[in-house]
Amino acid sequence: MCGIVGYVGKQKAASILIEGLKRLEYRGYDSAGIAVLQGARIDVAKKTGRVDVLAKSATRRRFTGATGIGHTRWATHGGVTDANAHPHLSSDGKFALIHNGVIENHAGMKKFLLEKGYTFASETDTEALVNLVAYHYEKEPVTDGKSRFLESVRRALMHVEGTYGIAILCTDCPGEIVAARKASPLVLGVGDQEYILASDVAALVSRTQNVVYLKDGELLHLTPANFSIITQDEEDVSPVVDRITWNIADAELGGYRCFMEKEIFEQPAALENAMRGRFAEDGSTALFGGLNLTPAELRQIGHLVFLGCGTAWHACLVAEHLIERFARVPVEVDYASEFRYRNTPLDRDTLFFVMSQSGETIDTLGALREARRKGFKVLAINNTVGSSIARESDGGIYQHVGPEIGVASTKAFTSQLLIAALVALHIARMRDMSFNDGVEYVKAVKSAPALVHRVLEQAPRIREIAKRHAHYKDMLFLGRLSLFPIALEGALKLKEISYIHAEGYPAAEMKHGPIALVSPECPAVFFAPKGEIFNKLVSSIQEIKARHGKTIVITTEGCELPPGVADELILLPDCHEAVLPIVATIPVQLLSYYIALERGCDVDKPRNLAKSVTVE
Ligand code: GLU
Repeated sequence: MCGIVGYVGKQKAASILIEGLKRLEYRGYDSAGIAVLQGARIDVAKKTGRVDVLAKSATRRRFTGATGIGHTRWATHGGVTDANAHPHLSSDGKFALIHNGVIENHAGMKKFLLEKGYTFASETDTEALVNLVAYHYEKEPVTDGKSRFLESVRRALMHVEGTYGIAILCTDCPGEIVAARKASPLVLGVGDQEYILASDVAALVSRTQNVVYLKDGELLHLTPANFSIITQDEEDVSPVVDRITWNIADAELGGYRCFMEKEIFEQPAALENAMRGRFAEDGSTALFGGLNLTPAELRQIGHLVFLGCGTAWHACLVAEHLIERFARVPVEVDYASEFRYRNTPLDRDTLFFVMSQSGETIDTLGALREARRKGFKVLAINNTVGSSIARESDGGIYQHVGPEIGVASTKAFTSQLLIAALVALHIARMRDMSFNDGVEYVKAVKSAPALVHRVLEQAPRIREIAKRHAHYKDMLFLGRLSLFPIALEGALKLKEISYIHAEGYPAAEMKHGPIALVSPECPAVFFAPKGEIFNKLVSSIQEIKARHGKTIVITTEGCELPPGVADELILLPDCHEAVLPIVATIPVQLLSYYIALERGCDVDKPRNLAKSVTVE
């Protein structure tokens, strides 16, 4: 996880680094630090806690240099302490290094380096790497015109097992940074007489929109005048400069209390963006530009496997429901983290979809690679143009909802649901779905933003409900069919941001165990939309009421509930099955958000979490 930023230019680096770290803080917030080259010295400021804490202590110091690196940490090795905060210095003080990832063989490296006389000041895996760079710098002087700095990093990395996005300063090389990546993201912003390096574009969009995405195994060498990229095997890489489409306003709060609130309320617009240009002219199906599969190839697919982690895994479960229901193709859903090690038997005519907002989720990337190694085609649904998953997949669909900065996913999730609905339609129309049903389905999908808007209008009411429920310690979320994954998502949202223990269950499973939890102290959020099984859902709610459980019932406008079954009621507009999961998500997002606010939680930065999980 963690956020990395680096600067080479003409301005004072410290304030630019801190500004960048603030924008990356959602990636990790255990500690933050910067290192700035000042003449022949590297000055470091690092502190546990948020970037603001670092900013205060850094302003008391004189950082005047124009080259530096900065880091927000999500600790993997070693506790959350000042000493373990990055940047880490080599014991000779010549190098400073920041790292995102895990050096798996750090113990052996450290043993070797201790024997050579290097010393260690932290418990991190990272410190072994900075000392290994120093070791190669001393041991293997370079001739033939190569940069000794770059070469020592390249040689050190040859011994690394694990994952890394790193950036390094060297006291012998004013105005230079060497950076490299393997499975952790790095992007270079090419500005006006300056370069900004970062884990993601949020940190650099205020200074430039021209970017170069680094690929796995590449090393970047920044100097005041130029930059160059080579591979681990010393081949030159011709960089491709891309232009990012979003701007600084996308990464700012714009009057909202926090990013999660902003992202919940911008969902109607986000959904419009996710569906723009994705309908066929005849109005009966969905079109995608980047699947890289012919209609004939797609028709021959016998099985689909959807892989994701966390919230994206819930979106995969909805995809399963919609595709099986409308396109009649069997779908398998797996956690990406399990799939990559499970070696499941797979049919030859299987197509994979992976879902990841960031496009950098390490388990999803690992699963994608495993499926491709086995010769399968993998399509990606992701929100980050140029991400590792986007690049390594055979094709895919971008969510196009702009940056999601709140750690708990909201608009990225509903846009994944929207794309799942469109994929179901696309495949269904190649098979059994009629033209008329297709037209009706398209109309339904197009209505999603307006329907979501109508649920958002109930926010003040949901806030009142949240106030009455913020003191509970446990909660159940129950739903069936396509709303079972939304029950899981509701429970996850509540856990993530309010720290209330919550469980999501298929409603009918309740009596096979979770009903033991039902009591006046454990309210149940119950999805009971209009539909064939409405009466069964009502029976399940009555079973809760019979045991003195409290209920928050989410049902469809116009549905009649027997008196007394709903202690609290939230109404959804009547809608097509394809968009029901999207519409039903909004109340549980709002409920979790307002409960977390009531409890005084830091909604955008929940404890122990980070936005994109780039370590195993
Ligand atoms: N493994 C490193 C540490 O624990 C880096 C973790 C990160 O990616 O923030 O310090």
